[in-house]
Amino acid sequence: MPEHASFLTSRLNEALGWARKYSIFQYPFVTACCGMEYMATACSHYDVDRFGAGFPRFSPRQADVLFVVGTISHKMAPVLKRIHDQMAEPKWVVAFGVCTCTGGFYDNYATVMGIDTILPVDVYIPGCPPRPEMVLDGLMKLQDKIHEEHRTGERPAPEERPETLDA
Ligand code: SF4
Repeated sequence: MPEHASFLTSRLNEALGWARKYSIFQYPFVTACCGMEYMATACSHYDVDRFGAGFPRFSPRQADVLFVVGTISHKMAPVLKRIHDQMAEPKWVVAFGVCTCTGGFYDNYATVMGIDTILPVDVYIPGCPPRPEMVLDGLMKLQDKIHEEHRTGERPAPEERPETLDA
């Protein structure tokens, strides 16, 4: 490929990455009390619109980020998995709240001990519930990953669950 063509392609990819990271269409899978904090973050005080993420979609086919918010039971797990399967690539998963990340204080047969056991997780937002600032931090990490995918042409690997969350 001529040098100027590869320069143009990389500039175009850079621009596409920038546009995509500011047009996040999230599917909120909200099951429990973390939902209150999720809604608080979406309101005007914290304003996720400035990250281009203020417009939730309630069809997985129109969303590119699955926000899993709250405790996931084994009964719900197949539904969550199906919603993830219905989303088109490229798609991303955010684990919101410690119950979603690890099962939290639940230690029983009914609760999934971390959604990374059923889905690839791209960003962990721990906390019970997470503060809105942590949610914004998670959103910015997600934006970096989206941009990086366009810049390098390779999708960043899903995150390992941080060891500190298992303590
Ligand atoms: S992390 Fe805390 S606030 Fe969130 S769903 Fe679990 S118990 Fe509720």
